[in-house]
Amino acid sequence: MERHDYAQGVKTASRQLVSVMKHLFRNMLLVSAVAGLLGACAAPQGAFPVDLLSAEIETRQGPGAAELSEPTRVIVLGTGTPIPDARRAGASIAIIHKGEAYLFDVGAGSIRNATVARYKYDIPSLYPSQICCVFITHMHSDHTLDFPELAYTLWWRRRAGLLSWGPTGMVRMVRGLTEMMGPDTDVRTRGSQPLPNPTGNVVTVIEIEEGIVFKKDDLVVEAFKVNHGNIKPAFGYKITTADKSIVISGDTAYSETLAEKAKGVDLLFHEVISELGLMKNSPFWQNYHKNVHTTSIDVGRIASKAQPKKLVLYHGLYYGTPEASVIDEVKSVFEGEVILANDLDVF
Ligand SMILES: [Zn+2]
Ligand SMILES: [Zn+2]
Repeated sequence: MERHDYAQGVKTASRQLVSVMKHLFRNMLLVSAVAGLLGACAAPQGAFPVDLLSAEIETRQGPGAAELSEPTRVIVLGTGTPIPDARRAGASIAIIHKGEAYLFDVGAGSIRNATVARYKYDIPSLYPSQICCVFITHMHSDHTLDFPELAYTLWWRRRAGLLSWGPTGMVRMVRGLTEMMGPDTDVRTRGSQPLPNPTGNVVTVIEIEEGIVFKKDDLVVEAFKVNHGNIKPAFGYKITTADKSIVISGDTAYSETLAEKAKGVDLLFHEVISELGLMKNSPFWQNYHKNVHTTSIDVGRIASKAQPKKLVLYHGLYYGTPEASVIDEVKSVFEGEVILANDLDVF
C-alpha cells in the first residue's frame, strides 16, 4: 500500500513536473519571441545580444596580453549629423590600438554606442571609464556633445582622467565642463562615497596646431587643417600604425590637403552631402553647405585623387534622398570601393 502510494505520488509529481516544464517552456518561447520582436524594433542594425549581464564595473588596470597583440581595429561609434536620427549617434570613430581606445570626435550618443561595442565585440578599452583619449576635429556641437559623458561617466573609477586634444576652444569647453560638473564633484568628494580615483574627473586638454600631435609605440596621430568655411581651425586626422593607415575628414568642404594626406590609405572616412539632396535646399542653404561640406561628387573627386583602399562615408546629409543613393552619386566619379557606414560597423 505504502509502495503503491509512493509510486502513485511519484507519477503525480512527474505529471505535475512535466506540466510545469511545458508551461515554463511555453512562457520562455513567448518571452524570447517578444524579446526578439523588441530587439528587431529597437535595434534594426542587428545582433544586439539579449543575454548580456546587467551593469558591471570594468576594473581592468591596463591592456591585457591578448589586447596588446591584436591588430588595429576601427569601430564606428557615430555616423550622424546635427539632425537627430534614431539610428545614428553623432559623429565619432574609435581606433583600438594595443589595448587603448582613441576616439575621434564624440557626438551625442556615441559613448552609449561605445558601451554597446565594448560588449558586442569584447573590447574592454571601449568601456567609457577605460577610454583614455579623445581627439576633436572642430568645436561644432555635433562633434563634442558627448565629451561630458566621456569625461564624467563613472569618473571615480577611471584609471586616469581623460586626455584630450583639439583646436582652439577646447580649453574653454573643458573649463566650462569642470564648472558644470562642480556640484557633482563636490558632493562625491566631500560625502561618504569611496573614491578609488579621486582625480578621475580631471581632464587634460591640449589645444593643437597642425602636425604630429601624438605618438605611442607605432601609433602616430597627425592633425591637418581642412576647409570648414569660417569655422577655424578645423582639423582632419591621419592615424598610422604598423598595420593600418586611416584618414578622418571631420567636417570639410573639398580639400586638396585632405586628398594629399589620404593618398593610398587603407581607410578614408569622409563626410558627405548628397548632391541630389542639396538641390532640394534653398539657394541660401545650398551656398552655405557648399562652403562647409563636401558634395557626393566632390567626395568622389577626392577619392579618385587619393585612391584609398576603402572609402567610408559618414556624417551624411541627405535631405530626403534615400541614403543609399549617395553611394551611386560617389561611384559616378570614383571607381574604388565605397561603403556607407552605419553605427557600430567594424573595420
Ligand atoms: Zn558636423
Ligand atoms: Zn562642423
